[in-house]
Amino acid sequence: MSVELLAARMRKVKPSPVIAIADRAKAMKAEGKDVIGLAQGEPDMGTPAHICDAAIRAIREGQTRYTPVDGTPALKRAIAQKFSRDHGLTFTADEIIVCTGGKQVLYNALVATICPGDEVLIPAPYWVSYPDMVNLADGNPVAIACAEGDGFKLSPERLERAITAKTRWLILNSPSNPTGAVYSRRELQAIGEVLRAHPRVLVMSDDIYEKMLYDGTGFSTIAEAVPGMAERVLTVNGVSKTYCMTGWRIGYGAGPGWLIAAMAAIQSQSTSNPSSVSQAAALEALNGPQDFIKANNAVFLRRRDLVVRMLGECEGLHCPVPQGAFYVYPGCAGVLGRSTPQGRRIDSDLQFCDALLDEKLVALVPGMAFGLSPYFRISYATSEEMLTEACGRVRAFCESLRG
Ligand code: PLP
Repeated sequence: MSVELLAARMRKVKPSPVIAIADRAKAMKAEGKDVIGLAQGEPDMGTPAHICDAAIRAIREGQTRYTPVDGTPALKRAIAQKFSRDHGLTFTADEIIVCTGGKQVLYNALVATICPGDEVLIPAPYWVSYPDMVNLADGNPVAIACAEGDGFKLSPERLERAITAKTRWLILNSPSNPTGAVYSRRELQAIGEVLRAHPRVLVMSDDIYEKMLYDGTGFSTIAEAVPGMAERVLTVNGVSKTYCMTGWRIGYGAGPGWLIAAMAAIQSQSTSNPSSVSQAAALEALNGPQDFIKANNAVFLRRRDLVVRMLGECEGLHCPVPQGAFYVYPGCAGVLGRSTPQGRRIDSDLQFCDALLDEKLVALVPGMAFGLSPYFRISYATSEEMLTEACGRVRAFCESLRG
């Protein structure tokens, strides 16, 4: 057998760099090295007990069979209520789909709509999976660089310049992975104003970090912020991050019925329904007590402040203060051109992260993976003790650089 047997599209698809770095860190740990992994983005808190109990009950009650492909009626009702409660948006059952993680919602939607050569606009820095999913769907990802000076956010002018006759989607992600940037209602309305002149462009709003907000920052989503947009917006969300349920694999999408029906058709011929037990757990997540989210956010806020303060003290780094999610995206332009005591020259964020992992045993993800350099991403979804140790190592590393 040979790789020549693989489909041509596989040449454009690479495995997630985040998973690759996390795996390398795990392998080093397995060799007995004291590695601190800050690469992977998942809350370190366990799934709340009432959610686990609901899943156990579902198993005992026999909810162990196929469900409708696009989700149980009860979970779809809970999702509709969530949209109505949080954003005043109304969706019927056939405008909602439940999938195996937020990832599958995005993937189904892209596969359902992209013809070869269609373009998908992706503001950079972006979540690593977007461009590769577009490639898998035979489309062309088009990154739009969003500078730190613009808060790493897409300006209406940049959007206008990027739209062509081939543009099929714009992907928005707020709060953002990797920068934690949050779009205000007015910023979304300005984007909506540009899109008004381009009625064939669809919008994917990835709201998976919706509930993780700090400093009194409000949340807005484009389907609600821009009247008339709802008919071409797919709003993507899920329970992975907010409810500490990354392993349960439940995400959902809400949008126009024609799109949801096509996504359900793809799902029916690929994975069928998401896990019945996980759907029962997600139902409890959405309908049950929500107070732990505030408590978790207080923990994340302390960690954010710790990391921003400590990295701000590192020679050659600067760390913008993110308003949401659980990532910081510090700039490392100030260390480029310097060398480690072992004589390794650092000319890029990739070389910075590589050398840091080898020499100080801290795993971070270089900004090149997210389409905007020279930066790196730290996931602060780990204990303060771990973060203090990791940031101390980063500081020692920066201090050790010469030239
Ligand atoms: N969207 C963004 C921006 C993410 O960061 C992630 C997970 O890292 C996802 C979607 C996918 O979430 P899930 O684990 O539910 O597939």
